[in-house]
Parts: sequence; C-alpha cells; structure tokens
Amino acid sequence: MEKNYLKDKPLELTNDGKLTFFFLGIGSAFSKLHYQTNLLIIKGQDHVLIDCGTVCPTALHNYKSSIINISNFLITHSHADHIGGLEESALMGRYVTKKRPNMIITDEYKDLLWNSSLKGGLAFGEIYEGKPLEYHHFFNQIKPEMISKSPRPLYEINAGSINIKLYRTMHIPDSAKSWSDSSLSYGILVDNRVIFSSDTRFDIDLINWLLKDYPTIEHIFHDCQFFPGGVHASFQELSTLDPEIKKMINLCHYGDNYKNFHPRDNGFAGFARQGCYYIFN
Ligand SMILES: [Zn+2]
Repeated sequence: MEKNYLKDKPLELTNDGKLTFFFLGIGSAFSKLHYQTNLLIIKGQDHVLIDCGTVCPTALHNYKSSIINISNFLITHSHADHIGGLEESALMGRYVTKKRPNMIITDEYKDLLWNSSLKGGLAFGEIYEGKPLEYHHFFNQIKPEMISKSPRPLYEINAGSINIKLYRTMHIPDSAKSWSDSSLSYGILVDNRVIFSSDTRFDIDLINWLLKDYPTIEHIFHDCQFFPGGVHASFQELSTLDPEIKKMINLCHYGDNYKNFHPRDNGFAGFARQGCYYIFN
C-alpha cells in the first residue's frame, strides 16, 4: 500500500508495526529535482535510515523532521550522495544533543568510512585526552553478524523489530569483474521480504541468488541509470530480466530526465516515489 506524505506534517518515525519504506530522496547522485536516494525504514517503534547523502539533512528538515531525530544509521557505501550528511549528524550529536547515534556497520567498513571519509572533517573537532577524536566518539557501532561467506559475504542484524541482511555488491570501479574485486558496498534485504539494492551495477547472479534463497521476497527497489556502462544497473539491462521479476521492481536512484522513460510500459512496477510511505502488510 502507498500513502503520501502529508504536507506540513512531521515525518513519521514510528507506526503501528507494519514494515514501511519512505524514500526521503529517490534521485541520482547529482539530481537537482530529488534529494538523492536516502531511505528511511520504519516499523513499530523502530527506524533505520539507510544512507545519509549530502542533501539528506535538508530533506529531513523539509519533511518537518531533523537529522537529530535519526537514532539508527546504516550506510551502504562511501559516495557523497550516501554519506555527505553524516558529518552534520556527528557534530550535532557530539556538541548539541550529546547523543551518539547507532550505526549498523561491519568492522571492515567502519575503518574505511572513518579513515577515508569522515576523519577529515571530524577528528580535529577537539583534542580529547590528548588525541584527536575517533569514530566511536561520534557513533555507536552496532556490528552485524556474518551468517554466510558464500556465494558472497552475508551479514545479519536485528534493529529492534527490523531484520536486515547486508550483502556485498558490485558498484565501483566499473572495471571490476565481480563483487569480490569491487570497492566495499552493500545492498540490503529487509525482513526477508524487500530488497533495496542501493548502488550496484547490473548483477544477475545477485538477483538470482537472493530470489532463490529467500522465496519470501516480494518487492525490490533497484537503482537504475538511463545509459549503458557506468557504475549502476541500466534501464536497458534491467529490462532484460524475467517479467515475473520486473513486476516486483520499483526503480530508484534515477536521473532528472526520468520523464523520458516509462518503466510500467517495460514491465516494471514503476518508478519509486519520493515522499511516499510504502507499507508492506
Ligand atoms: Zn554510489
């Protein structure tokens, strides 16, 4: 079921217990029409924000909420449209609300995210006990458990009532031959029901594996670009999927020229919409 955000009402961070996806943004990295692609998952008293791009704090503000209301993060990879808003969360948490948000993150990705991205803007906020600050001064790590190594690393965590599985994806560089020689990036499966691909190149092995091992999957939100090549699954590549799979897919992370494309005519469920609560009964 789809329910539109009601203008001027605060974004709902709790609900009656139904698994709900709300896209704060639905556009590509450089979209000027949408707030990039940032996904809020809500279920009962629990919420997790999947990715926090450059314009995510502005999106939250315009949905009558605030980055300081987000208590749980999960970051899929280090492009700025997925992490650019984290510094604001970190600084507001340390110096304004005096709270450390939770972040669901593997040790491997925590080291990469801190040392290659966040450290530059955060470490020298102060000298604490004689040393610059570190990751744990800003975020509380919630470590998912590895539940399988094959066919690719699979991690699991229960964020309250929300079950999340993380798996490796094949996003950058475009010269990589598989997920194993790609830079760290993750997609997620929620409650064994809904896939959010985050950013990945077209990866038929991934789709076939998940649908085979988790026959309870009922919906897929898949990133998409409107040209071949590059580091996302293209509209043309996704159009080659089995019609039964395409029916389950809403496209996201799309460019500002999206009105030139017609996913329903190509057998997809459609474009995912920004500012819409997708409620899974
Ligand atoms: Zn990306």
